[in-house]
Amino acid sequence: MIPTFQHFINGQAHTASDGGLMELFSPVNEQVHARAARGTAADVSAAVAAARRQLDGGAWSKLSGADRGQLIHRLADLVERDAGKIADMDATCIGRPPIEPRLLDLPNAIGTLRTSAGWADKIEGRTIPTPGYMGVKTLSYTQREPVGVVGAIVPWNTPFMITCWKVGPLLAAGCTVVIKPSEETPSSALHLAALCKEAGIPDGVVNVVTGTGEVVGQALCSHPGVEKITFTGSTEVGRIIQRTAGPLFKRVSLELGGKSPQIVFEDASIDAAVRGCAMGLFFNQGQVCAAGTRILVQRWIAEKFSAALASAASAIKVGDPSKEGVTMGPVAKKEQFERVNRYIDAGLAEGAKLLAGGLAERGKGYFVKPTIFAEASNDMSIAREEIFGPVGTIIPFDTEEEAIALANDTDYGLGATVWTSDVSRAHRVAQAVKAGAIGVNCWAPIDPRLPWGGMKTSGIGRECGLSGVLAYTEEKVITVLVG
Ligand code: NDP
Repeated sequence: MIPTFQHFINGQAHTASDGGLMELFSPVNEQVHARAARGTAADVSAAVAAARRQLDGGAWSKLSGADRGQLIHRLADLVERDAGKIADMDATCIGRPPIEPRLLDLPNAIGTLRTSAGWADKIEGRTIPTPGYMGVKTLSYTQREPVGVVGAIVPWNTPFMITCWKVGPLLAAGCTVVIKPSEETPSSALHLAALCKEAGIPDGVVNVVTGTGEVVGQALCSHPGVEKITFTGSTEVGRIIQRTAGPLFKRVSLELGGKSPQIVFEDASIDAAVRGCAMGLFFNQGQVCAAGTRILVQRWIAEKFSAALASAASAIKVGDPSKEGVTMGPVAKKEQFERVNRYIDAGLAEGAKLLAGGLAERGKGYFVKPTIFAEASNDMSIAREEIFGPVGTIIPFDTEEEAIALANDTDYGLGATVWTSDVSRAHRVAQAVKAGAIGVNCWAPIDPRLPWGGMKTSGIGRECGLSGVLAYTEEKVITVLVG
């Protein structure tokens, strides 16, 4: 029996206003595994109206920060209860080995909810001393208010975790939300909304409208009742969102793509660097915004390091993730398969040396072997463009200055890693590389308490931690004449 998912609006399941449905395909066997409502602009309006009612005098607007914190903690308890089921939902949709979301996404999502719950009653203002107003003493203080109704647009790669990066902080700040999950992965967002209801969060605070970006995403970005758009996805769609939401002066946070460098110095532990770089390259089939796909290696060790990384890549077992011993599933969809193959073809044409993997053959399912190119240069398309698949490009360098210049010679600025045993060099390079998050001798330490986001075309704003909560507030200043 193929499940059918409907929208979740004002605490109830809703069909699309025109009854439309879309089909979801398994990347493992290309069969339809579910259907979901194909949302319309009218569905978005109904969800925004429900979210608005809760802010304009609804039960949610009357809760204290401490009350909201308690409800978010209760939500975290329920997510913890259903963690295995939720991990399986995401894994099924994108063909990922379920162990990965179980070990990383769900603990991180639960941690994000709990960290957000803790901030809910600590969103403070300041009192600011001034000389007064026309010779009369004044008292000025600030307060932070919820920004309003948020439109949250989410990608398919780690859908539940990213949904929680948005929902936890925005609930802590007192906002309400309409979530638009990716077409491929609606189920875990719908489950989260149902858990919000079970936790006692009032109906209408968290709504989900499934459907396409072109219709549902754009309707959110242009809806006059939405004050903020929080978007995670590609840089291309980030630009479209700015074009739609910008003229309406909506607040916009963008978490976008990357081409993150992993810089390996000759004094690094080669074993640790190979393990870390392989993790940074191949986790989630390489479909990670912060994937460390540009591996800059000091020339002296480049050959040895490249051979070791290629052998780590070749040791990964690709296949149906439900089968014993398989550690990498297919890429998530047909477009992704074709895109990754196009880049592998480009790497070969541009003259990079193929050390592992290579062009994927088209059979049943979207399987791509972990691929390593070596002896590449930073002007090749495989070094400049986000592939979003299991493909790494090794580029040699001679000096620290050259490594920094290469690391920064990119339009992106999301993550970076530095592999070295020289502590001064580690700090020097970490400070010189223009990226939102740098790991020294580790890859992308994502933690709910740490701010996450990118520089340059990798985005605008930060999610998670206190920065993530404040991003859902407006700062107001109040000045009182005290005489
Ligand atoms: P997309 O940008 O294609 O889609 C992201 C979301 O935007 C989806 O829900 C999509 O809907 C929606 N969307 C598509 N077109 C529009 C539009 N015109 N208006 C409004 N919404 C729209 O990204 P992917 O889902 O393919 O995810 C991969 C990208 O996300 C990569 O570039 C990756 O680097 C980035 N990413 C960034 C992260 C970060 O933290 N910086 C984290 C994870 C991923 P639909 O379902 O129809 O496609």
